[in-house]
Amino acid sequence: MAGSTHTVTNQAPPLVGHDVFTGDRVLTAAVERHLAPELREEALAELSGLGRSCGSLQSREWAVQADAGPPVLRTHDRYGHRVDEVDFHPAWHRLLGKGVAAGLTAAWTRPGGHVRRAAGFLMWNQVDAGTCCPLSMTHAAVPALRTDPELAAEWEPRLTSQVYDRGLRPARLKAGALFGMAMTEKQGGSDVRANTTSARPLAEDGTYTLTGHKWFCSAPMSDGFLVLARAPGGLTCFLVPRVLADGTRNVFLLQRLKDKLGNRSNASAEVEFDGTWARRVGEEGRGVPTIIDMVAATRLDCVLGSAGLMRQAVAQAVHHCEYREAFGAKLADQPLMRNVLADLAVESEAATTLGLRLAAAQDAAEAGDERERALLRLAVPAAKYWVTKRCAPLVVEAAECLGGNGYVEESGMPRLVRESPLNSVW
Ligand SMILES: Cc1cc2nc3c(=O)[nH]c(=O)nc-3n(C[C@H](O)[C@H](O)[C@H](O)COP(=O)(O)OP(=O)(O)OC[C@H]3O[C@@H](n4cnc5c(N)ncnc54)[C@H](O)[C@@H]3O)c2cc1C
Repeated sequence: MAGSTHTVTNQAPPLVGHDVFTGDRVLTAAVERHLAPELREEALAELSGLGRSCGSLQSREWAVQADAGPPVLRTHDRYGHRVDEVDFHPAWHRLLGKGVAAGLTAAWTRPGGHVRRAAGFLMWNQVDAGTCCPLSMTHAAVPALRTDPELAAEWEPRLTSQVYDRGLRPARLKAGALFGMAMTEKQGGSDVRANTTSARPLAEDGTYTLTGHKWFCSAPMSDGFLVLARAPGGLTCFLVPRVLADGTRNVFLLQRLKDKLGNRSNASAEVEFDGTWARRVGEEGRGVPTIIDMVAATRLDCVLGSAGLMRQAVAQAVHHCEYREAFGAKLADQPLMRNVLADLAVESEAATTLGLRLAAAQDAAEAGDERERALLRLAVPAAKYWVTKRCAPLVVEAAECLGGNGYVEESGMPRLVRESPLNSVW
């Protein structure tokens, strides 16, 4: 009989069916430390529910399916009309729906919202980094939109809603909406002052048309985008909806999707604007100061995202070494391996602690604490640099703890390795 020559021994069982939140003592302690006592009980229960979902076999399977079935660009319908849509795997929609329902875009509307969301976002990165991209950008768009109270009144309730209402329709018909950002152009990403996309005023009401391109535009099926373009008064921030108020499609010409190193579940597009309708956000010439609030929020998410990848890699490494025996002892009991695992755990725990501390500073700053706001200005870029830079070597080292098994896709480690350099580029 095939396979009857041996019995399978000394293999670790899969790490599923556990609570990713309560199983992470450092994360749990950080949430307890930073939340006001009256918020704790409810927040801990909610996060534990999300932790069970993150550790479930179902979520893990969806993440594998979404990664194995990458998005497909559909530029035209069968009759030749331009549609510029991207078809995602059904598992992508399930994951994104779970992330939205878990409040991962709702930080700005709840007391202690940033700490609660940071813990959730860190856990969600352990499931699927792809859906974390639109969840992060939607969360981050809120402070930039708040520079314009009219726009904030229109969009904020949908961006912070816990309903994933998929499909391109006018915003007023949707119970929830997602946002992306488009700054990077072919000739420059870090130096956005090199942007050449132009904005021509349509009327005195802050509406314009845009002409130009963006070289990276992730999550292109989002409902709206914050875009930088050059108006007569200089570089300016704009809101570009995918669907106009009358239900017709805005001009949003998806040229192609990037073939990327990291996750395959999300799409990053190249897009052309050709007379694209846009609404100004903030003053003309103040594009960078307006969008910088969004950039700052995504920077903190880079810290939390990398901390999540690190945590998942270390959890897998420790789990494997607790079961696997070599040279007469569990790997976790071999002195040199203990040393490696301890180093990995310390660094991962430090990243979690730092990310949650910064989220607490964000909550305090929202409540008017200027000292904490000043801390954020200094500490978020420094933390972003350090944690995202350390992510890749740590994840590679953790994968090595699984030996050859860690090099095989089924282990999930290659997916973490491929994702690990992303946040330092972003
Ligand atoms: C998966 C993915 C998704 C993305 N999604 C989006 C998106 O949705 N929207 C969007 O707008 N952009 C997006 N980007 C683009 C991303 O923001 C840019 O790639 C990033 O800002 C860097 O810009 P660049 O690629 O033009 O590199 P460059 O700006 O050319 O930088 C190249 C290198 O030079 C370094 N460098 C730059 N300036 C200096 C300096 N003064 N001194 C020393 N070194 C310097 C950089 O750190 C980098 O290492 C995405 C990128 C990736 C990889």
